[in-house]
Amino acid sequence: MENQPYSILLYYCYASIEDTEAYREEHHLFCIENNIRGRIIISPEGLNGTVSGLKEDCEKYMAYIHADPRFAKTEFKIEAFDKHAFAKIHVRVKPEIVHSSLRHLDPNVKTGKHLAPEEFKALKDQEDVVILDVRSNYEHELGRFKGALTLDIDNFRDFPEKVKELEHLKGKKVLTYCTGGIKCEKASAYLLEQGFQDVYQLHGGIIKYGMEAGGEDFEGKCYVFDNRIAVDINKVNPKVISICHVCGTECDRMVNCANSSCNAHLPICEKCGWEMEGTCSVECKENPEKRPYDGTGYYQKNTNGYNPYKGLIRRQDKAKQPLHEQKDPGIRADHQS
Ligand SMILES: [Zn+2]
Ligand SMILES: [Zn+2]
Repeated sequence: MENQPYSILLYYCYASIEDTEAYREEHHLFCIENNIRGRIIISPEGLNGTVSGLKEDCEKYMAYIHADPRFAKTEFKIEAFDKHAFAKIHVRVKPEIVHSSLRHLDPNVKTGKHLAPEEFKALKDQEDVVILDVRSNYEHELGRFKGALTLDIDNFRDFPEKVKELEHLKGKKVLTYCTGGIKCEKASAYLLEQGFQDVYQLHGGIIKYGMEAGGEDFEGKCYVFDNRIAVDINKVNPKVISICHVCGTECDRMVNCANSSCNAHLPICEKCGWEMEGTCSVECKENPEKRPYDGTGYYQKNTNGYNPYKGLIRRQDKAKQPLHEQKDPGIRADHQS
């Protein structure tokens, strides 16, 4: 893995950004000039991104972010890969760096205590501890910590509502975790606000836990928000916990339903994949619009004629309007870890 030419970076930083629109353009331009691709959100509360690029370009990108005093403390999760993990670059201004409906909470003021991966590992099996997965159904169904409490939510913005069901855990040590740590900053802050006393968060999320603590006791795969879809975390005691959506056998092979209007992310085994032509149900299989299945269940968007400057130019026109009149694209808002 180490000799692969590309890197994938996952990062966030809660920091006040006043000139979001101007900063977005500058940041976008830097990415284009250095062939960085991926998804970046810029908001008045900070930065959040998953990007890919050649190793040396990623080094430049990290130096660029660290050179800005607002983002000097940003921590990057760095993974090696053999190619870009994204087809395009998107840099967007949004009201929050992760859609949470918790805009009033500032993790720089108050949040759960950060646990390094080894500290999390040492604490998680103690008796008075609850491990709380703050991610959505499609994520924790594919993989989660052994013994973790999961929530029936399709989007992180539904997290606050679910906390009402956790009243009975107020006397316990609550350890939250998510993919890269960003959701926990808000989730743990919200738990403290709701009167939970002893709240901790896994710093750097599942990804960093895999890199630094060998991923022990993380069962299944970790859902990620780039072309890889799912990654292995556990090098110590791995286990498959998900089952094929069609036949029910043990399976951790993630597929996007070939019917693009469904596009459900589900585990579907090799055999059922071919039988169902990459779809999740008989209805989807019969949809005449469905995409041709090539055995991967991954559908690269057509990038013919892709112009990385396009978003930059479009936004420059839009920048003439006040920000609140701009339409929030709202695409995959929670799909940032
Ligand atoms: Zn199957
Ligand atoms: Zn489907």
